[in-house]
Amino acid sequence: MITEKTTLDSPIVKQFFEEILGEEGLMVINSLMGREVTDEVISKELGFKINIVRKILYKLYDYRLASYIRTKDKEIGWYIYTWRLDLPRVKDVIMEKKMRILEDLTNKLEYELNTVFFECSNDHFRIPYDIASERDFRCPQCEGSLEYCNNQNVVETLETEIKRLNVELDNPVPEVFNPARLQ
Ligand SMILES: [Zn+2]
Repeated sequence: MITEKTTLDSPIVKQFFEEILGEEGLMVINSLMGREVTDEVISKELGFKINIVRKILYKLYDYRLASYIRTKDKEIGWYIYTWRLDLPRVKDVIMEKKMRILEDLTNKLEYELNTVFFECSNDHFRIPYDIASERDFRCPQCEGSLEYCNNQNVVETLETEIKRLNVELDNPVPEVFNPARLQ
């Protein structure tokens, strides 16, 4: 069974949250895990300022990984926000993110493959042939001379990254929810 607890045990999931929310975000998630609780309670328990907790919670809400119910406190007349997590959805969020990165890298690769670059010998400022030729092969930054630039390294780096992402996208489930971690 996939629970909230085991979801966060996955290193990929943990890394994702660290990236988007930081170390404090992980603590907020841990605090919210397995219960419904107000932002005030989390703030008090963790000793974080309320606006930091709220910022993290709304970021989770943006990804639809958390939701809240708003109720009015009859005594003080303020609204109270009770939060809960929807962590198992994180698998889809991570896959969507990887797909966007893949699309971006594929566009970059296409551009690199279809463009001849020239590079400044002083500051390595790199520009496409068309612009280099318009500027008489002078660098727009320092006026240094522009020389042909082999972009094979850039192409290879992009190809490697794309290959890696494709493998990850082909095998999403075992990586995110490793059964060995369910204990
Ligand atoms: Zn230059």
